[in-house]
Amino acid sequence: MGPSVPPDKNQELKLVFFDVGQGDAALVSSGENMLIDAGPPDAGRNIIIPYLKQNGIDELKYIVATHYHDDHIGGIVEVMRGEDQTSGTADDIIPKEGILDRGGKYEGYSPAYDEYAGVAGTLRNAVHPGDVYDLGGASVEIVAADGEVANGTRIGLDPDDENAASVVLLVTSGDVSFLHASDITGGGGDPPYETADIETEIASTVGEVDILKVAHHGSKTSTNSNFLEMTGPDVAVISVGDGNDFGHPHDEVIDRLIDSGTEVYLTEEGWLDEEYLDSESVHIQNGPITILISEDQWEIDPY
Ligand SMILES: [Zn+2]
Repeated sequence: MGPSVPPDKNQELKLVFFDVGQGDAALVSSGENMLIDAGPPDAGRNIIIPYLKQNGIDELKYIVATHYHDDHIGGIVEVMRGEDQTSGTADDIIPKEGILDRGGKYEGYSPAYDEYAGVAGTLRNAVHPGDVYDLGGASVEIVAADGEVANGTRIGLDPDDENAASVVLLVTSGDVSFLHASDITGGGGDPPYETADIETEIASTVGEVDILKVAHHGSKTSTNSNFLEMTGPDVAVISVGDGNDFGHPHDEVIDRLIDSGTEVYLTEEGWLDEEYLDSESVHIQNGPITILISEDQWEIDPY
């Protein structure tokens, strides 16, 4: 870790949510760059590397692997290999301060995880709730990881419940806050697939936020009413893919978001019900969603 410096208030914060189909990848830039997940396999080389190149970004300070499902870690090794997709060459993108993840290992069969573990290797650092990382003009706090929340709550997780183990991050710049909820769970689901409610503890820890990356691609097992009431985001981003196998996003979640006065942006339509296509609160981007934050204001960059 380098010396700690106070956040630079003049530094704009930029959030990019890539359109990676069914999966998640977000770039947080504020002088320094943090890539949070890299989508499913092929998204790293086909979507993220070209974006970084077009935008003159050849350095990442951190890469975060929020959890070990393919749709989040599949592209990480591709990003690290750079444009030529070959390790050990000049265009490799090796995060300067390493890779942040929940520690431990994936308990199932996953070639994507095995490749990640092999290549990321000694660059991996296990995060803990309360840890804070500096991005120049913004700070990033770990709010939850592996069933532990920054308010001291520990929720015993089923080892198979990879989503509930997700790393959740709170990005703060000036008065603007952004909660990246990864695939964290909020209770709900039908037996035997009920999920643990980590979200309510997260909400009680962070309070109100301005911008939310909606958990788990808009699944109804996340984004519960208590969570939304306590966090009250102005804008919510759902990273979801057309034709996904899970029916994401679920109507219940879209209803809850609209009812709480939140503007909803989707990377793709997914299984969004037709009834929402006319809603003024629902926007389908079919491309990356970019949010610019400066002087305590945020705006969606038209694409
Ligand atoms: Zn996911």
